[in-house]
Amino acid sequence: MLGKILGKIIIISAPSGTGKSTIIKYLIQVIDNLRFSISCTTRRPRKYEINGIDYFFISKFSFYKKVLDGSFVEWENVYPGIFYGTLKCEVERELYSGNNLIFDLDVIGALNMKKIYHKNALSIFLLPPSISEISYRLFKRKTETYSSINYRLMKAKKEIVLSRFFDLVIYNDILDIAKYKITKAVKSFIKSF
Ligand code: ADP
Ligand code: 5GP
Repeated sequence: MLGKILGKIIIISAPSGTGKSTIIKYLIQVIDNLRFSISCTTRRPRKYEINGIDYFFISKFSFYKKVLDGSFVEWENVYPGIFYGTLKCEVERELYSGNNLIFDLDVIGALNMKKIYHKNALSIFLLPPSISEISYRLFKRKTETYSSINYRLMKAKKEIVLSRFFDLVIYNDILDIAKYKITKAVKSFIKSF
């Protein structure tokens, strides 16, 4: 990468259904100068998702093309046949202009981003109360099929084992408590440079 990075990076990771999107939306509202890093994905949008706001929804062909031309800082095949990636140009534009960026990444992508941006990045793992609670939250969200929920739960167990490699682990049992703790941590990280 060229130039001086002026903004900070906040990386949020957690098993699906823990509350990443909920908490990220809240942080963006309460912290000035914090923007969401919009990833590319090959999955279909959910009813409430908007192209260019939640994700850039692209075809597998376009995704592969971007992989080949080196457009991604990182990318992962997060679910069978579904790809997610962070665009280099988006990240650079925001960070070089002094904006702080918050990322919603799978565990492997999160650890890779932390390695790339080290001191400029704070990696946070959101810990769910239990596997049965995330199963309940996913069921309640009504966005996943039965088999997609099962796959996400199976993945969750492996993801939780990797939580110890994160800078910070925040328990998301009572939402307001998790919001309070994470806001405090993110604000103090942004101020600390
Ligand atoms: P993720 O982005 O990690 O997949 P979401 O933010 O979509 O998770 O949250 C999954 C569901 O759980 C949503 O319906 C959300 O409103 C709910 N939720 C999030 N945090 C909590 C919490 N602490 N207690 C109960 N429900 C929660
Ligand atoms: P979904 O949005 O389909 O529920 O879940 C997407 C999963 O992929 C989440 O674990 C999310 O953190 C992760 N994810 C989203 N965007 C990216 C990305 O650009 N790179 C990586 N590595 N993971 C991503």
